Amino acid sequence: FGYQDVPRHEKASKVADVFHSVAARYDVMNDLMSMGIHRLWKRLTIERSGVRPGHRVLDIAGGTGDLTLKFSRMVGPRGQVVLADINASMLGVGRDKLIDNGVGGNVDYVQANAECLPFPNNSFDCITIAFGLRNVTDKDAALRSMQRVLKPGGRLLVLEFSKPQSALLTKAYDEYSFRFLPRIGQLVAGDADSYRYLAESIRMHPDQPTLKGMMEAAGLERVEYTNLTGGIVALHRGIKL
Ligand code: SAM
Repeated sequence: FGYQDVPRHEKASKVADVFHSVAARYDVMNDLMSMGIHRLWKRLTIERSGVRPGHRVLDIAGGTGDLTLKFSRMVGPRGQVVLADINASMLGVGRDKLIDNGVGGNVDYVQANAECLPFPNNSFDCITIAFGLRNVTDKDAALRSMQRVLKPGGRLLVLEFSKPQSALLTKAYDEYSFRFLPRIGQLVAGDADSYRYLAESIRMHPDQPTLKGMMEAAGLERVEYTNLTGGIVALHRGIKL
């Protein structure tokens, strides 16, 4: 389905359908489709987060909780991590995984929409949104909401697919995502449509400078980004001063 053609409320419900349908196999598919490289992208996000013992961290659109798992160990017993996602199926898979990994008292689970976060102003030392922002209908509202709940001095990290920096890479990547992705989606998860949505949502997402400008417009400062894997993914970071 061409999701760029659908009205706002329909985009939200299509996104919901996609993640309900992939939740159980999400982690396996992530490893398969990125050939394990998403682990490196996430590791860099953790390194740049500046999270320390005692910090409060929000992992919004946190899904199955890869970042939350790492953060829960970094913040320690005096800190807190909130794993938040709009989708109950993803949140459920995430909670089971974290519990299986021995994560206990310092993680909370909240079903929430990134566009209107249900937390007071100045609540978190760090907020991450990994491969989540492109699924959000009103990205500007989401960035403003994240800025609002960050503490002064807190960091927002946005890890997201972005624009490959060379023509050759763009060509190879188009081939991969429009031909190969839906096929493995069909083969492994029996669901080509969800993976077609994935490829389309990646193409529609703002490129590196555009997202930087959107973060600045939402009130974040010292915004910078790093291209990963030739710009297939970018990590943007901004600070609330
Ligand atoms: N952060 C995880 C990771 O990197 O593995 C999960 C990423 S997954 C591709 C995207 C997640 O965004 C899904 O779990 C989906 O439910 C969530 N999502 C989509 N729209 C959202 C919204 N408006 N607010 C919060 N979460 C949302």
